[in-house]
Amino acid sequence: MSEKQFIEIVNDRENNLKNISLKIPKNKLTVFTGVSGSGKSSIVFDTIAQEAGRQLNSTYNSFTRLYLPKYKRPDADEIHNLSTAIIIDQKPLGGNARSTLGTISDISPLFRILFSRFGQPKYGTASNAFSFNDPEGMCPQCEGIGRSYVVKLDEALDYEKSLNEGAILLPGYGDKSFYLHAILDSGFFDNDKPIKDFTDAEMENLLNGETPMTVQYKGTELNTSYEGIIKKFYRTNIQDNRTMSDGARKKIEKFAEMSTCTMCHGTRFNQQVLNSKINGYNIFDLTNMQLDQLILTLDEFQDERMKSVVADLKSRISNLINIGLDYLNLTRETSTLSGGESQRVKTVKYLSNSLTDLIYILDEPSTGLHPRDVHRLNDLLLKLRDNGNTVLVVEHDPDVIKIADYIVDVGPKAGIHGGEINFTGSYEELLKSDTLTGKYLNHKLPLKVNPRVAKSFVSSSKSSLHNLKNIQLKVPEGLFSVITGVAGSGKSTLVEQVFAQENPDAVVIDQSPLHGNSRSNSATYTGIMNEIRKLFATTNGVDDSLFSYNSKGACSECKGKGVIELNMSFMENSEIECPQCHGGRFDPEVLQYKFKDKNIVEVMDMTIEEAFTFFDDKKINSKLKNIHNVGLDYLAMGQALNTLSGGESQRLKIAKELNKKGNIFILDEPTTGLHVSDTENMIRIINDMVDKGNTVIVIEHNVDVMRSADWIVDIGPDGGSRGGELIYEGPVAGILKDKLSVTAKYI
Ligand code: ADP
Ligand code: ADP
Ligand code: ZN
Ligand code: ZN
Repeated sequence: MSEKQFIEIVNDRENNLKNISLKIPKNKLTVFTGVSGSGKSSIVFDTIAQEAGRQLNSTYNSFTRLYLPKYKRPDADEIHNLSTAIIIDQKPLGGNARSTLGTISDISPLFRILFSRFGQPKYGTASNAFSFNDPEGMCPQCEGIGRSYVVKLDEALDYEKSLNEGAILLPGYGDKSFYLHAILDSGFFDNDKPIKDFTDAEMENLLNGETPMTVQYKGTELNTSYEGIIKKFYRTNIQDNRTMSDGARKKIEKFAEMSTCTMCHGTRFNQQVLNSKINGYNIFDLTNMQLDQLILTLDEFQDERMKSVVADLKSRISNLINIGLDYLNLTRETSTLSGGESQRVKTVKYLSNSLTDLIYILDEPSTGLHPRDVHRLNDLLLKLRDNGNTVLVVEHDPDVIKIADYIVDVGPKAGIHGGEINFTGSYEELLKSDTLTGKYLNHKLPLKVNPRVAKSFVSSSKSSLHNLKNIQLKVPEGLFSVITGVAGSGKSTLVEQVFAQENPDAVVIDQSPLHGNSRSNSATYTGIMNEIRKLFATTNGVDDSLFSYNSKGACSECKGKGVIELNMSFMENSEIECPQCHGGRFDPEVLQYKFKDKNIVEVMDMTIEEAFTFFDDKKINSKLKNIHNVGLDYLAMGQALNTLSGGESQRLKIAKELNKKGNIFILDEPTTGLHVSDTENMIRIINDMVDKGNTVIVIEHNVDVMRSADWIVDIGPDGGSRGGELIYEGPVAGILKDKLSVTAKYI
């Protein structure tokens, strides 16, 4: 094999990496394994993706580069044979109200072509007429959003009062106003009758009427129109949905709320578009079907002339189905997709990319997938590879590790105890190797021997939200419950959107990033910093605000940021380390104050593990212990929150809650980012929380977590409309006898 067939890294020192050198085969599927914090991301993201991005940028001139993302040169001696790298991450797709699964997957344009050519009656000249984002196709009331402002009648009218008594509460109807006069003089109403006594016809006229009339106003006779109050409110207050300012929205929100558009009933299209049909279906009927039903329906489209468009549609739709998204529909707004769903949509998008020799990088693509569906992900990864690309995956799921061409195991442990290459080679070789990963791959936890017994329950009301079939969540108080089911079965809907809303003291701990800017770190977030400031202050007899870089202690040069932005008018902006504090953020004056011979910057540079042996303060050590317990020993005290992964953020949130008693905690896939060897530790943490008197509800796909729970609730049997039923609830041992449960097969 020629050397060009490898990506080669020589002496990599990024983050915790210990001068590692590595050759990764190109056009193969390589999986990176190792405990959390061992250095996998440092290799894949901070070295390979960074350098690939930087090399690509350097091919542009300096003006263009101003507008490209900034990449820094990784701390490695040499990196060879890179090509363009594409990161397929779990950042939610987001997008505005006009972005749907159909638009983002490029399936909507195909439907537009189909209807513009074959829809009856014909509508429009171009295929854009079938787009809800085009004036020709959109509903005129909501302008293609499907929702519009609807006046809240209870806020707009005081039903107890008559018109003369001031029943109209909307702005613009003051005593002396022209609009109030026009209504009072219209002769349509008994101005002294309370609104609650109006007949339906009177009410309709008051709200939506429109009749020419003359009004006596300030001594003149005006020819005008009588205009109902809602009509007028829309005309004067509701401007173009797309350009309305936040201020304008605020002003009207007391009187109106966004709700399903009353004209298009949420379809987003105008009536002409909806009238145009093929085989009895209009474009909304089709795009609003669940994908598995849509593909069957397209079988009815047999007309020879449609053949090529229909074939194209089917192939794109089946790509989405094959990755386990069969329960979604094309009208679904992208902003409501979960991280795992977003990542799968992105992956499918790249499948139809005909460029080859790319490097695809995926971070834990199995997140959110039930064990039943992992083989679908595997097919997709292999397909990306077989299209002629190099696929690099960070993954803990044994079923994904199994299909790798090549495995790189990083470790042996986390942080300073990691950063080395433990192993490279095939799956069979890994199993025989002396690594934690190899040891744990065939290791299954036994079913819990003495599960706690349910005494009392907390529950939600019965719900039919999304796909739920009038079911309730009922879990035992003070026990460890796990909620399972395939993706799209309804777990998050039931637990997070129904149960948690109805039990407002339940704390949801998910993987969303911790809010905070570059100035917040693990020590400030967990409250350790406050205690450390007090220690430094009392030891040195000075004010404790000196030991905050957000306050008096900030370096005067960089104002506590640690970096200085250089604004060079004709070249790239760049950040350099602050020459005064060298990135330490504190005023050099502050560094004269010591605690046990260390200044505050030296303390911030310590890892959680080092800090634990350094301090012997009760409060500080108990907080450090909690962070240690969730497996984040390797974090530096001063490490900024925005450098933490989703899984790390979630574990830090857990650490903050560990001393609480008598709460309900909801954990959404807490094993994300955890090595199989760390899963047992997470289970121990959950049991500790339960022993402290908390009720813990865990949404999980990890089989070891299922086996260790006291109680299991299985939602299914499938995703979307074929899910939303309660398949099993009870002690874990009982589910094994349940024939309907897909989950039972994996426990
Ligand atoms: P993994 O991907 O295996 O979980 P990482 O490569 O993310 O591990 O982390 C390896 C080590 O580098 C950890 O000690 C982590 O805290 C540290 N680290 C990662 N990113 C940063 C960063 N941006 N700043 C400082 N330390 C970091
Ligand atoms: P799970 O958590 O088991 O993966 P979800 O609760 O996310 O399942 O989804 C259950 C069903 O509800 C699916 O059909 C999904 O498409 C639908 N759904 C979930 N969230 C929304 C939403 N915000 N809007 C519309 N449909 C949704
Ligand atoms: Zn509408
Ligand atoms: Zn500074």
